[in-house]
Amino acid sequence: MKKTRTIPAAVNSVRYRTVDSHLHALDFLQQTEGFAALADVMDEAGVEQAVVFGMPMAKQWDSTMPKAPSYYLSNDSRCYYYSGTDYILAELLKKQPAKIRKRFYPFCCGINGNDRMAATQLRRLLEMYPDFWCGIGELMSRHDDLTALTYGEAPHVNHPAFLEIFDLAAEYDLPVLVHHNITAQGNEEVLYLDELKEALAHNRDCRIIWAHAGISRRVEIQNLTKIVRDMLKKNKNLWVDISWVVYDYYVLDNFPNHYADNDTPEDWVRLIEDYPDRFMLGTDVVGCWDKYVQEVRKYDVLLEKLTPDTAGKLCRDNILAVMKKNGGTK
Ligand SMILES: [Zn+2]
Repeated sequence: MKKTRTIPAAVNSVRYRTVDSHLHALDFLQQTEGFAALADVMDEAGVEQAVVFGMPMAKQWDSTMPKAPSYYLSNDSRCYYYSGTDYILAELLKKQPAKIRKRFYPFCCGINGNDRMAATQLRRLLEMYPDFWCGIGELMSRHDDLTALTYGEAPHVNHPAFLEIFDLAAEYDLPVLVHHNITAQGNEEVLYLDELKEALAHNRDCRIIWAHAGISRRVEIQNLTKIVRDMLKKNKNLWVDISWVVYDYYVLDNFPNHYADNDTPEDWVRLIEDYPDRFMLGTDVVGCWDKYVQEVRKYDVLLEKLTPDTAGKLCRDNILAVMKKNGGTK
C-alpha cells in the first residue's frame, strides 16, 4: 500500500515562493542523498526550483584516518580539484523523471582555477551537454581552510584561468557564481577585494554572482554593507548571494559569540532595498538534506523586514533574471 505522506508543519507556514540559488547536489566525497529526496524537502520548504551544482573539490580519505571524512573540515587530509563532479551531476539529473528534472538549473564547476586549460575543459563540457548548463559555478577562488587544505597555489579570481572562464561565460551568456573571500581568516584588513574588482572589470558582459558576499568562517571585517554597496554601485555586472555564514554572522547579527561587526540588520535591509535586483539567497547544503527546510526558513526573519516586492526578488526573481530564465520549464 502506498504510504500517505503527512504534510509537515513547514508547508502550512511557507510564505515565500523561492528559487534556491546555491545548492550542492554532491558533497566533498561526491556523494548525495539524491534528487527524489531533495525534491521532497524542497516541497516542504516551499522551494519550487533550484540552481544545482556538484562540488569542485574532493576530500581525500587518508590511510591514517579510521573513518571516511564527510566535510572538508572533517580532518587534516588534503582536498583536490575533482572535474568528475560535473559528469556525475549531469548523468544523475538526466536520469530523473521530467517532473523532477525541470525543477533544477544545473551549473558546472569542476575546474582548477590555477590551470589555463580550465576554460577549454568547461567549453568541452558545454559542448558535450548542449543546452543543459544554465551557469558556471560554484567556482572556488579564495576559501578559508579549503584553500589551505588544497595543494598548489592559492586560487585567485583575477588569475588568467579565471579571466578566460569569464570570457567563455560571456560568450555563452551564462552567469558565473564564484566563492572569493574578501580577506584571510583572522585578518580585519580587506586583502582580496581588488582581485574581484579586476575580475569584474575584465569582461563587463560576464555576470558574476559573489557567493556569501565574500565571507567565510572566521572571516571578520568591519563595514561589510558599505563595501558591498560600493561594489554594487561601481560594478553593474555583480550580483550578491547571501547564503551560508554571511547571513548568520553578518545579516542576522545574532550568532553566538560572534565577532562584533558594526553593521546592524537594518543596514542590510537598507542595502537590499537600495539594490533590490542584485541579491539572492540559497541554502548551500551539500549532498545531504536533513537541514534543508531550516536553511530556507532562516531567511524569513530578513524577508519579513523587506517590502513584499523586494522579498519576491530576493527569493526568486533575481536568480532567474541573472540566468535569463523566465521561471518556466527549460
Ligand atoms: Zn557553496
